Amino acid sequence: MKVLALGGTTEASQLARALAGDARFEAILSLAGRTAHPAPQPLPCRTGAFGGVEGLVSYLVEHRIEALIDATHPFAAQMSRHAAQAARTARTPLLAIFRPGWHPEPGDNWQTVPTMQAAAEALGHAPRRVFLTVGQQDLAPFAAAPWHAYLIRSVDPPATLPANAKVITARGPFSEPDEHRLLLEHRIEVLVTKNSGGTATSAKLAAARRLGLAVVMVARPPPPEGVERVATAAEAMAWLETRHRMLRGA
Ligand code: NAP
Repeated sequence: MKVLALGGTTEASQLARALAGDARFEAILSLAGRTAHPAPQPLPCRTGAFGGVEGLVSYLVEHRIEALIDATHPFAAQMSRHAAQAARTARTPLLAIFRPGWHPEPGDNWQTVPTMQAAAEALGHAPRRVFLTVGQQDLAPFAAAPWHAYLIRSVDPPATLPANAKVITARGPFSEPDEHRLLLEHRIEVLVTKNSGGTATSAKLAAARRLGLAVVMVARPPPPEGVERVATAAEAMAWLETRHRMLRGA
């Protein structure tokens, strides 16, 4: 059964590992090509945009894809929207892996905001020492608040930076003791993050809680309507197995 998985996440890598060891599936992993050195994958990969909804429809038809798995990041809203539209047009069964978001716990001091622009504004007018973990594509709004001192962590060095920024390149998962040390070492006062969910990057929240730091949390965009969703790669694998039984009768 031919499967296309849209990747770029921990769950996509987990699914790729499960699919690679299973002779019932012939799977391809699609990466956007945002990182210079993506983690090695056990499946054949294609890299780069499809060319909008039309491009993805053509890909699904030409490659006779029998199931599409949207395992992109919860903030990759455009890709998820395009996947939903293309799957409808090409009549390809689609499942999205949408990992649960983070929720505040006792002791947390979160301010939830709807956009990255609102996150930059929420930092206020008094200079603060800010840990920015929003990804290298979403830094532009912070250039308008150059009075803060930014510590930016991203997988690759960002192309453009706000003034007064220091960059650390690193790829998760991160541990709580390391996050705690980092926050202390850089005398961080406030953390800015997307509500990505998952465990790979959640240690910074526990470290911020322990230190009593403020967190500006950017809320997720809503997922496309009408798309079947699961929370984990294991559930997506079970869905694929069911479809395989329906199609091949075994
Ligand atoms: P996006 O804004 O939703 O995507 C913009 C465009 O990039 C899409 O419309 C699509 O172009 C192309 N694209 C995105 N993901 C793709 C994929 N897996 N394969 C092929 N083309 C893809 O997404 P994004 O926020 O730039 O994220 C890009 C990738 O990074 C995704 O794979 C995502 O899982 C990963 N990622 C994102 C974040 C985040 O915070 N946004 C964090 C970690 C990882 P066409 O429509 O022209 O095909």
